[in-house]
Amino acid sequence: VSAHESGQDCIAYSPEISTIAKDNLSVLGSLMQAIREGQLSMHYQPKICMRSGTVKSVEALMRWHHPERGNIPPGIFIPRAEQSTLINLVTEFALEQAMQQIVQWQSRGIDIPVAVNISPRNLLQPGFSDLILNLLERHGVEGRLLELEVTEGALMTDMARTIVELHRLADAKITISIDDFGTGYSSLQYLHKLPISLIKIDQSFVRRLPADKGALHIVEAAVTLTHKMGMQTIAEGVENDEIYNVLAGLGCDIAQGFAISRPLPAAEFEKWHSQHHGRFMVDKATSC
Ligand code: C2E
Ligand code: MG
Ligand code: MG
Ligand code: MG
Repeated sequence: VSAHESGQDCIAYSPEISTIAKDNLSVLGSLMQAIREGQLSMHYQPKICMRSGTVKSVEALMRWHHPERGNIPPGIFIPRAEQSTLINLVTEFALEQAMQQIVQWQSRGIDIPVAVNISPRNLLQPGFSDLILNLLERHGVEGRLLELEVTEGALMTDMARTIVELHRLADAKITISIDDFGTGYSSLQYLHKLPISLIKIDQSFVRRLPADKGALHIVEAAVTLTHKMGMQTIAEGVENDEIYNVLAGLGCDIAQGFAISRPLPAAEFEKWHSQHHGRFMVDKATSC
C-alpha cells in the first residue's frame, strides 16, 4: 500500500492524522500554484574533487519562496509532493532549470555538470529515461553534463525496470549517483548490476566525524566498497575543515558541504567559482 493510500485510509478514522492529511493537501495545492507562479527556484552547491580541489559538479537544490509563508524548505514539501504525482511536475521543473543553467554556463565557458535529485516515484514514471533524453536533445546538452542523484529506495521498488532505465541513461553518458547512502534499504547485491558512478555517503555519518567511531568505520567501509566496485565516494554534509581532512585521509574522492560552500543562487555560485578560480583547498593537485 502506498503512503498516499494509507494516508487516505487514516482520514476515515483518525482525527489526528486527518489534520496532517489536510495540511498535506494544502501544501500540495500551494505547491501547484508555486510552480505556476514562479515561486520555485534552484540553488547550486559545489562538489569538490578532494585531490585537485576542482569543482566536479554542482547539486541543484530546490527553493520555495512563498509570498506569505516565506521560505519553505524542501525537507517539508518534497516528501509531501513525493506522495502524489505532483513530484513529476516538481522534477520536471528541476530538470528544466538545470538544462537552462547548463546551457547558460556552457555559453560562458563554465563547464560544470549539474546534479538533479530524482525521487523514487520518478523512476517508476513510464518513459522516464525518454523524458530525460528528449530534454537533453531539446536543449542541445551533452549527457556528461547531467548527473542524477537517486536514493536507495528508488532502486528497490522495481529493480528490473530500474536496471533498464538507468542503463539507458548511463549509455547517454549521464552520471548516476546513489544519494543518502547508508540510510535506505541497501541491497548490496544490486549495486553491481546498476551503472552507478558515485556513492554519496549520507551526512548523518559525515557530520559525526571524527569523534564517533561508528560513523568513522562506516565511512571507511563505504570508501573501500565503492573503490572496489570501481565507483567514487562523495561525502555530503562536510561542515568544517576537520571533517574535510579526515575524509581526505580516508581516501574519499569528493566533498560537499558548508565548509566549502552553502547552496547558492546561480549568480552567487558563479562569483564563488571565479573567486576560487574553480578550485578549493588544493594541497596535492592530481586529477579526480
Ligand atoms: P539531499 O539531496 O541529500 O541534499 C543535501 C542537503 O544537505 C541539502 O538540503 C543541502 O542544503 C544540505 N547540506 C549541504 N551541505 C550541508 C552541510 O555541510 N551541513 C548541513 N547541515 N546540511 C548540508 P536541502 O537543500 O534542504 O534539501 C533537503 C533534501 O530535499 C535533499 O537532500 C533532497 O532529498 C530534497 N531535495 C532538494 N531539492 C530537490 C529537488 O529538486 N528534487 C527532489 N526530488 N528532491 C530535492
Ligand atoms: Mg541529493
Ligand atoms: Mg544527499
Ligand atoms: Mg541527504
